[in-house]
Amino acid sequence: MNIARALVLDPKLLVLDEPVSALDKSVQAQVLNLLQDLKAERALTYVFISHDLNVIEYVSGRVLVMYLGEVVETGTADALAQSPKHPYTQALFASAPSLDPDHRMERPPLAGDPPNPIDPPSGCRFRTRCAFAMPRCAQARQHMRMGRAAIFVSLALSICVAPLAAHAQQPAGPPPQIQAAQTFLMTWGSQKWDELKAVAADTVTVKVGPGTYTLQPAAQKSDVQLTLPFRGLSTVRTDGKITGVKVDEMALKMGDKEMRGPGMVDLKEENGAFRVTGVSATSTPQ
Ligand code: SF4
Repeated sequence: MNIARALVLDPKLLVLDEPVSALDKSVQAQVLNLLQDLKAERALTYVFISHDLNVIEYVSGRVLVMYLGEVVETGTADALAQSPKHPYTQALFASAPSLDPDHRMERPPLAGDPPNPIDPPSGCRFRTRCAFAMPRCAQARQHMRMGRAAIFVSLALSICVAPLAAHAQQPAGPPPQIQAAQTFLMTWGSQKWDELKAVAADTVTVKVGPGTYTLQPAAQKSDVQLTLPFRGLSTVRTDGKITGVKVDEMALKMGDKEMRGPGMVDLKEENGAFRVTGVSATSTPQ
């Protein structure tokens, strides 16, 4: 009935705000297919608002990811699903439940509550919950305003000062050692083995308290798991040479035992790129 009402004036654009969120799965599929048919028959454009990633992937040509009233990332549905760049987009996809029991989520990939939208944080609105936040993120809005390309979608991508590996070529990104550690931790935590292989040594030694474990990305094998999120990365130098990245807080899980606290990611430089060789955590049991 609502769809018919919306179409009666023969519009070219329809704004659909959570149109299928209250429906059960089988009816949802029927309505989505009907919407797709109507779109093709009437050459319609939809602005489709949804929190359901599967629905978004099914219906969308282009996706805008919003956090606290601002666009943080844009791309095709496939591109976002394959390689989300913004930490919030990554957390969204990491929070999608998996049907594979081996990929059970132990801890939500995002901690804390969204801030009050009436009084949002200065700078990047996501910084109070972002694992990569650093002091300059508090000024990111000035950075945004400077961008003459006021197309919000490209601005949104330019504001994140700590994007992951795919942003490595962008001048606003963090130094390569921080990027390597971020990518390693994020891909290890979400068990994206192919991406993990790109930044990790063949075997990574993981030391937690008195125990030593191994992580072998090529074999998709890890005796210990990293639990997302983690926070606070800073470069460690020994005799002026970059040897690792300190992590203010991360959590590692061995069987049913979890340790949380500060840690270190050991790095080895190879032809200007960094590879992770080890992780150590001086954590306390939870
Ligand atoms: S790294 Fe900084 S700018 Fe990027 S999302 Fe996190 S808090 Fe925002």
